[in-house]
Amino acid sequence: MRLSYNKQIAILVIISFLFIIVIPSITIFAKGEEYRQTIVLDAGHGGYDGGVKGITSNVKESTINLALVRLLKGYLESDGYKVILTRDSDIALGNTKQEDMKKRVEIINSSKCILMVSIHVNFYPSKYRRGIQSFFNKGIDEKFATIMQENLNVTLNYPTLNRNFSALFGDYYILANSKCPATIVETGFISNPEDEKLLLDEGYRMKLSYQIFLGIKKYIQTTLVEKQSFSTMKCAITYLA
Ligand SMILES: [Zn+2]
Repeated sequence: MRLSYNKQIAILVIISFLFIIVIPSITIFAKGEEYRQTIVLDAGHGGYDGGVKGITSNVKESTINLALVRLLKGYLESDGYKVILTRDSDIALGNTKQEDMKKRVEIINSSKCILMVSIHVNFYPSKYRRGIQSFFNKGIDEKFATIMQENLNVTLNYPTLNRNFSALFGDYYILANSKCPATIVETGFISNPEDEKLLLDEGYRMKLSYQIFLGIKKYIQTTLVEKQSFSTMKCAITYLA
């Protein structure tokens, strides 16, 4: 039987719908709790290592990192993700910096995470430097950091500073050793009084962590659509052949 062109198109649309919407939803629903995708959030520093310090308030970077991570965790959990934190209090994960970093990587790599985000605050000798910037290390991180950066540019960097930044390569142990795609987000400069003021404000922290959440979502959606259009394409080619 030879199908008309219109019928072939209709069948293709139905197949696409099944593969992109229905089948993934049924699979996730059927597998339930154990299938919830895991995201690891890392609040940089902690304990004896407070990170950098606020230029006017003397606030520890580790305190801001943890506050942001807790907010981000809330957004991700409300959206159905399982979230693992490398630390949930003001502690270091080892007696030395090296031990601490090794432990963080162990948590990440034993979690079967789909993604890891490490939160930090920046510091620069010149007080004029400002802005939020994402870093990547491995090839698989670059796309994640770039999508994250684009979202942060549009929603926060450009409206506040009238400029955008690029995601940058960074030789960071935690990124180099995480098996899943990973990024470090440097959420602003506490060497700049205005960035510092923003980072101390709970309302701004909610806004910032929500935008990091949206950056994560955008990356997941992009990779999911790419994977699914590939399967749909293979299926359609088989059907029409
Ligand atoms: Zn840091």
